[in-house]
Amino acid sequence: MVEISNIEKFYKTDDIQTLALNKFSMKVKEGEFVAIMGPSGCGKTTLLNIIGLVDNADAGSYLLNGKEVSHLNERKRSKFRKQNIGFVFQSFNLIDNRTVFENVELPLIYNNVKKSERKEKVESLLKKMQIMHRRNHYPHQLSGGQQQRVAIARAVVNNPKIILADEPTGNLDSTNGNEVMDLLSDLNDNGTTIIMVTHSEHDAKYSHRIIRMLDGQKVSENMLKI
Ligand code: ADP
Ligand code: ADP
Repeated sequence: MVEISNIEKFYKTDDIQTLALNKFSMKVKEGEFVAIMGPSGCGKTTLLNIIGLVDNADAGSYLLNGKEVSHLNERKRSKFRKQNIGFVFQSFNLIDNRTVFENVELPLIYNNVKKSERKEKVESLLKKMQIMHRRNHYPHQLSGGQQQRVAIARAVVNNPKIILADEPTGNLDSTNGNEVMDLLSDLNDNGTTIIMVTHSEHDAKYSHRIIRMLDGQKVSENMLKI
């Protein structure tokens, strides 16, 4: 499903050039749950941005569902992104002046889903996430755990094949963090592929495989479950 080979990514600021990814390769099969770990600055976010088609690599190949996507322009990347990928962030990234319902509805509006169908989809998902009673509340009126549940609902409302999660429990206490990890595991059990960046060994144990990075390279890969 995701097959990355010898990816390189450079950043240039003033006269300093950083090699954020250095001939990085990885494969993720459909239905897998992979955790990516490594110290701050090792290239995890850069990698997720490339997998998520937010950014292009400077060299190497990226096959998404068998199609080479490493050189697509922004318009095509955006189309692929909407069809295939849902994002979950450490800081939730909900829109402050929209309600819970409206936040989750937004990706459906972008995908031209009609109003009655939007209502049905959003409400059934909010029920499943046990957040329906908060449908008319704004993000600042919710706890961190509730905000992340809304953010996950928003990430999955279009039924993406892949969820990319960047430290999804980083701003949560352990109770809320475990709830969020259980939710991601449920989605994975139902067939969604998950690639998650985490600093938490505890959270990484929910995955099938841990990839460890250092200085833009892969240093190890551990299979936990098949
Ligand atoms: P994390 O360690 O949680 O992955 P960082 O704090 O390293 O996040 O990066 C947060 C964001 O800031 C990223 O989107 C990254 O692209 C950007 N960023 C990181 N380092 C730099 C830098 N030296 N110059 C400009 N932007 C950066
Ligand atoms: P991580 O997510 O593991 O913390 P990042 O992918 O954010 O790592 O960053 C990898 C390296 O690239 C770091 O040295 C960071 O400072 C640099 N970097 C990331 N984003 C940018 C950017 N937009 N501009 C310049 N340097 C960046």
